[in-house]
Amino acid sequence: MSENTRYIFVTGGVVSSIGKGIVAASLGTLMKARGLRVTIQKLDPYINVDAGTMNPYQHGEVYVTDDGAETDLDLGHYERYIDENLGKSNNITTGKVYGAVIEKERRGDYLGDTVRVIPHITDQIKESVRKVSDDTDIAIVEVGGTVGDIEGLPFLEAIRQFKYDVGPERVLYVHVTLVPHIGAAGELKTKPTQHSVKELRAIGIQPDVIICRTEKNLSDDMIGKISLYTDVPKDSVFASRDVQSIYEVPMRLEKQGLGDLVVRRLGLEAGAPDLETWKNMVKKLKKPPETVRISVVGKYIELKDAYLSIVESIQHGAIANDIGVEIIRVDASHLEEGLEEAEAALRSSHGILVPGGFGARGIEGKIKAIQYARENKIPYLGICYGMQWAVVEFARNVLGWSDAHSTEVDPDTSHPVVFEMKEQKGQKQLGGTMRLGAYTCRLRKKTKSWSAYQVQEVQERHRHRFEFNNKFRTELEDAGLVISGENPERYLVEVVELKDHPWFVACQFHPEFRSRPLRAHPLFREFVGAALQVSRTQQIPNLLEKVVRDHVSVEA
Ligand code: GLN
Repeated sequence: MSENTRYIFVTGGVVSSIGKGIVAASLGTLMKARGLRVTIQKLDPYINVDAGTMNPYQHGEVYVTDDGAETDLDLGHYERYIDENLGKSNNITTGKVYGAVIEKERRGDYLGDTVRVIPHITDQIKESVRKVSDDTDIAIVEVGGTVGDIEGLPFLEAIRQFKYDVGPERVLYVHVTLVPHIGAAGELKTKPTQHSVKELRAIGIQPDVIICRTEKNLSDDMIGKISLYTDVPKDSVFASRDVQSIYEVPMRLEKQGLGDLVVRRLGLEAGAPDLETWKNMVKKLKKPPETVRISVVGKYIELKDAYLSIVESIQHGAIANDIGVEIIRVDASHLEEGLEEAEAALRSSHGILVPGGFGARGIEGKIKAIQYARENKIPYLGICYGMQWAVVEFARNVLGWSDAHSTEVDPDTSHPVVFEMKEQKGQKQLGGTMRLGAYTCRLRKKTKSWSAYQVQEVQERHRHRFEFNNKFRTELEDAGLVISGENPERYLVEVVELKDHPWFVACQFHPEFRSRPLRAHPLFREFVGAALQVSRTQQIPNLLEKVVRDHVSVEA
């Protein structure tokens, strides 16, 4: 903690999933645009030590940082909105806090004291907040969940105390709440917000700023009403209306004066915001001159958050190519079963992507998609599991090893072209034991990967237990598989591609965790660029217009 760091604590009210993370991230964009040094931290009240062991159904994607933390997906928003690499200390959970306190207790650090929630747990929380704020002007700290959750109480108590530890002039409380539109009455309702603030005040926190998530515009009267009930001045009540692209949120809030208000209230010295590039990016995103269709073939098509960073990165690739993109989510199991809609989606695609994954469900469908992309020369980007199945597909259908497999799904195959990494064997513990975080990948010249990155070595983030089996390397290479990226320390194959194909690249790492809206990841940029070539030079019909869309979901 530096003496001058200011703190913004963001809490949520009424319900979760109203985009509190995006508001926190947008605040970051507004501060960064004023030349301030910003960091963002998420405090998650759940008891899991990290998000690594959580099911996508409950928690969406697991985001991975350079230093190998498996974190909440909000960290992805933060990195994308402030364009900084964050790490382990940027995501704290109840599990981590209690883990640290129990360790101290066992060591005898508490010198005979009875260890309690206040002050020991709250001190530990405050310590982790101070820890991330070194060398920053502003630390934005988002508390997960909503006010009123039992497990959130120690966190709220800690941020309440924080104000008195560092001085009230250095702390701002921002409360993000829902102002629902009640269709039957044709009205927006402020009552849930009143209740949520009441709850917050009962804990001892008076919000300085309220940000209302709404479907409709908030009238002056409504703002007045919220202000009256909550003691928050009218100029500190903001509306964050639903928008077409989440990247619009910073500008919407800036327009209402949020950035200046924060700077003023925290006594910061900051220049005028430079949001020009960001604005232009959003403009391009909203009115693209042409659009390509990309299919993402995965396991969780109904879940918006399951492939969040992938979807964002495809958007970044489109921004870099000055075009728009329609993303079709295809359920790999439906492809496996030969469902018409799923097949129509493939045949309508200018590019196909198979993302990361685990386990057996839908893998034959993924293989089908990969075979389709390879044989029909449709651009393909395979990520992690999508790389491993690309190797299996090649082994089966080009080399004719019909039982080729990954030992993750078939441990007894006679062609284990993907197998468990040495250090994973016998590993019983699930949490935090994969090959995680950034590792070096050396690229081979005159390959598509090289022409995307234009450098010899790159750092990319990983999350896997299985790897390309080097035992089959020569045979696969002789048959035309190009190994274009490799880890120099361990000779792990990191990227494979195909020679006689316009663009077929599959990587063991996760490029989606390093892509940013203003700096698309090179592989996503080139992948979308190759899809654009296809859309301009080939007649790919949009068969999706004709089929029922129950089994594929499309978002533009
Ligand atoms: N299940 C595969 C592995 O563990 C791929 C992991 C992933 O796609 N993130 O190696």
